[in-house]
Amino acid sequence: MKVLDLNRDGGIGANCLSLEIGPFHIVVDAGLHPKKAGHEAMPDFSKIDGKAIDFFILTHCHLDHLGALPVILREHPESPVLMSIPSTTLAPRMLHNSCNVMKRQGKEQDIAEYPLFTHGEIDFLQAQFKGMPYGHTQHFTKGDEEILITFYSAGHVVGAGAVLLEYKHRKIFLTGDVLFHRQRILNAADFPEDRFDTVILETTRGETPGDPNLTREGEVKRLLETVNHTLIHGGSVLIPVFALGRMQEVLTLIRDAQVSGDLIKSPVFCSGLGMDLANYFDAIHRKTGLVDFQRKVLKDLNLRPLPRKLKPGQNPGESGVYVVSSGMLVENTPSYTVASCVLGNSHNTICYVGYCDPDTPGGKMLAQDSHSDFIFETLDLVVPMKARIERFELSGHADREEIFDFTLKAQPRAVVLTHGDPAARDWFANAFREARPELKVFDPTPGQIYTV
Ligand SMILES: [Zn+2]
Ligand SMILES: [Zn+2]
Repeated sequence: MKVLDLNRDGGIGANCLSLEIGPFHIVVDAGLHPKKAGHEAMPDFSKIDGKAIDFFILTHCHLDHLGALPVILREHPESPVLMSIPSTTLAPRMLHNSCNVMKRQGKEQDIAEYPLFTHGEIDFLQAQFKGMPYGHTQHFTKGDEEILITFYSAGHVVGAGAVLLEYKHRKIFLTGDVLFHRQRILNAADFPEDRFDTVILETTRGETPGDPNLTREGEVKRLLETVNHTLIHGGSVLIPVFALGRMQEVLTLIRDAQVSGDLIKSPVFCSGLGMDLANYFDAIHRKTGLVDFQRKVLKDLNLRPLPRKLKPGQNPGESGVYVVSSGMLVENTPSYTVASCVLGNSHNTICYVGYCDPDTPGGKMLAQDSHSDFIFETLDLVVPMKARIERFELSGHADREEIFDFTLKAQPRAVVLTHGDPAARDWFANAFREARPELKVFDPTPGQIYTV
């Protein structure tokens, strides 16, 4: 197999991997870098210019995996895009939203190439989508050659898939983004117990040791107690979340806690895309049962859009819970604005429930001392950090030890590291070398071809 990482500068950004297996040329994911703009945010597609791609694989619908797909599909209007059944519903919705965001950014920040694709193109490319039910092997042929492809549920987010590729008795397993624990609305990953020749794995949490004393249930309990405590004392709570998956998860946890009496009733606010995606989750629940989320949650919570009178830097007039995107407080998103409102008041709390890149405002806030001044650059505001800042271990990514153990059990001859910062990849590389010195570990430099 030949492996070529098209993600320009490694790390977690514009995820995109080219795989050549026998006569088959496959591209896995085509993401957009969340912190970059314009062409720089895309994978380096020039490396596969003019090459025929037999099919694309989309592991899931977060934009760091999906966001540049319409651009590369322009060159490959005949190639099928394999994805889980829920992803066939979610991908167009995520892309339409991304198109709207790019249109706005294009004007505001004067980025000539934005939007990178149009709404019309998104409607058109859906004809290439091929839904793959989890656990069902499909055969693909080219001349006399055959490759078998099976998707497995990967937890992480609705529709996330790991992929098994089988070619001439060689088995290649790709974890994609994976979570081995059950979430409130989503089952844990369901991977096959088998031997694989190669495992291509995500390394997101390689820098963070898993804490055996922390349980998901315990962290959920602590989150709800923190929210309750803040509300009882008249404060407001901001929970920054990804609109896809984490928002619906947190809303359901709040609804459950209100019903059981663990949380006092208060207004709950939410931003647009997450509310809209809730309707899609409801449809996926009814059609496939692959997510435990129903629209009724929004009604039970009497969920409201963000109040119009919310002014940056001014404490919200009415105490409540704000479950808004983005999860990392990226500039010019609802969570960024709400943070500027709640941060300056000691009655309020900001609850981080997911990964924050250290370069994002969320990551910077977590690293900063309390009572120092926090700068909201694009709002031109300086706010003293008086609110309580809490972090909860509710990541959508598996602990590094779990991924490591899964990989060793599969007894591969080679592993390929993806989707992680350099230090995170280093931990995996060293751990594998120590445990299995004969195992070949590939940490691909972007743009270089490796024979695995
Ligand atoms: Zn993801
Ligand atoms: Zn990802």
